[in-house]
Amino acid sequence: MGGSPLRILVVGAGIAGLAVARALRMAGFRPDVTERLPPGEHAETGLYLPGNAARALCRLDLDGPVRPLGHVVHRQRFLDAAGMPLCEVDLDALWSGVGECRALPRTELHRVLLTGAGGAVRHDTEVRTVDLLPRSVGVTFVDGTTAEYDLVVGADGPRSSIRALAALGGPPRPAGQVVYRAVVRDGPPVAEWTALLGQRAGFLVVPIGAGRLHCYADEAGTTAPADPAGRLRELFGGYGGPVPAVLEVLDGVHVGVTEEVELGCWSRGRVLLVGDAAHATAPTLSQGAAMALEDAVVLAESLRAAGNDVEAALAAYESRRRPRTRWVRDRTRDRNRTRDVPPALRDPLLRGRGGRIFGEHYRLLLGPL
Ligand SMILES: Cc1cc2nc3c(=O)[nH]c(=O)nc-3n(C[C@H](O)[C@H](O)[C@H](O)COP(=O)(O)OP(=O)(O)OC[C@H]3O[C@@H](n4cnc5c(N)ncnc54)[C@H](O)[C@@H]3O)c2cc1C
Repeated sequence: MGGSPLRILVVGAGIAGLAVARALRMAGFRPDVTERLPPGEHAETGLYLPGNAARALCRLDLDGPVRPLGHVVHRQRFLDAAGMPLCEVDLDALWSGVGECRALPRTELHRVLLTGAGGAVRHDTEVRTVDLLPRSVGVTFVDGTTAEYDLVVGADGPRSSIRALAALGGPPRPAGQVVYRAVVRDGPPVAEWTALLGQRAGFLVVPIGAGRLHCYADEAGTTAPADPAGRLRELFGGYGGPVPAVLEVLDGVHVGVTEEVELGCWSRGRVLLVGDAAHATAPTLSQGAAMALEDAVVLAESLRAAGNDVEAALAAYESRRRPRTRWVRDRTRDRNRTRDVPPALRDPLLRGRGGRIFGEHYRLLLGPL
């Protein structure tokens, strides 16, 4: 396909923005991409990608560069706080015909996406104003330069400034958890995705290749503590399984609070929100990256199918993406509610039916995009 006349700006070079840039380029568009941060400013954390992320990466023709990275995850093991088995999910069976589940360092996925985006990202750049014109968008950048685009894609995360500038929504809502992340070297041997479920708290350990473990923990709450490593030792010091050995070597803990974005509409005029800017949820199902990658695939398909009718493309895009992102939001809330059930009631149920219940949370996502 030859170059398209549509002038497109993608704001934000995270997973969603870079994947959108990649998908648009594959569809013959030549988007500009801007990013607030300087190049290479990414904390060292891990990422677990369920099978539908692999399918979307395949549609973006990026499965080749991702396949050697990280660790393929075959099984999820759920344990109680003492480290005794509750249930398992056979991921190869669950995601059969869709894609492999993989855990990897976030920076490695980012590097693949950055190369795949195929054009220069303008770093250290923010949008100051957007002006919704009848068939275009006027943009002023913080350095005072201006430009006009046929479409502006806000991929600037849960606290999206494009969302505010286009009057599509306010700040994100707290989703109710404090979350901790760290990458551990010289940790205990952990071969599979392993989560210990406690009382309104949980601790997850996943290998991400080269002897590294991605550790993710959460507790109910909305305020991050000043000493996250100390808080983790206090919260999880009595847990069993691999947790004591992980806590011993734990260092460089990143802490935050979960946020949710729920909007009545994802576009106004020629401004569209994608990824966390449109539909952030708590990361309980690890679907944020997969949803962002799927958004990119469907947006490019919608624009290509609608020719230069941007409004029709945005309407088609939203009606295709809504059911899947709504499913993720609702199942995330369902799973988070189970945290409030006391382990004495919850654990016997999980021992009997946990594998089926947890697998069921992904049912709609197994189907086509
Ligand atoms: C603790 C935690 C653990 C998670 N674990 C997982 C997991 O294991 N698996 C998974 O799939 N998902 C996980 N997620 C969710 C996942 O990180 C997000 O869903 C995903 O990163 C969304 O991508 P995005 O590009 O939409 O947003 P972001 O990753 O937030 O990227 C937005 C980009 O826009 C830039 N930006 C922001 N404001 C501006 C601006 N004004 N102008 C220009 N650029 C701007 C930012 O610097 C950033 O580069 C987790 C989230 C959290 C909080």
